[in-house]
Amino acid sequence: MTYELISICDACKQAIADGEGGLWVDMSEVEQASINERAWEQLEAEQHESGVRTFSGESIQSYPDPARWRVHHYSCDPSPSANSYAIEVHRCRSWADLVWWTAHLMGKSWLGQTDWDELLQQASESAGNRITPAVRPHLHQAQWAGRGSAQKTGRSTGRPAWHIRRCHLD
Ligand SMILES: [Zn+2]
Repeated sequence: MTYELISICDACKQAIADGEGGLWVDMSEVEQASINERAWEQLEAEQHESGVRTFSGESIQSYPDPARWRVHHYSCDPSPSANSYAIEVHRCRSWADLVWWTAHLMGKSWLGQTDWDELLQQASESAGNRITPAVRPHLHQAQWAGRGSAQKTGRSTGRPAWHIRRCHLD
C-alpha cells in the first residue's frame, strides 16, 4: 500500500511504519506556551501604555514559541511518559486524514498554542520532516501569498512577519 503522507521520525529521520509510532504534542509545553503568550501580551500592553511602539520587528521576534508537534517511533521517543496528545501514524496517511485531523483539532481550545500551522505548511511544501508527502503536490502559493495570519506566521518561524510575506510574494 502506497500512502500519500509519510511520517518521519524526529530522532532517527526514518519513515515510521504503521503501528510503530505517532505524532504528538506535550500538553505541559502547551500549557507553558499559553502562560508565555499571556506574559508577552501583558508586556506588550504595558509598553503600549508607556508609549513604546508595539509590534516592532523586535517584539514579534520575541513572541513566545508555540508547543512543537513531534513525530517519533515509539522506540525513539525521548519522553514516552509525557502527558501528550498523540495521533498514531496509521491514522494520518492521506491528505484527507490531515484535513480531518485539522478539523478535529480546531475544536481544541489549545490548538493555537501549538505549531500545527507550521506542520501543515511544511507538509504542503514537501519539507521532508514530520508529515511529508510521498509525491510532491502542486501548491498554488500565489493564491494565498500575503493573506495568512501575519502574526502567527511570524511567531511560528521566529522571524518578523513582513519578511515571510515578502518571500512569498517574490
Ligand atoms: Zn525513529
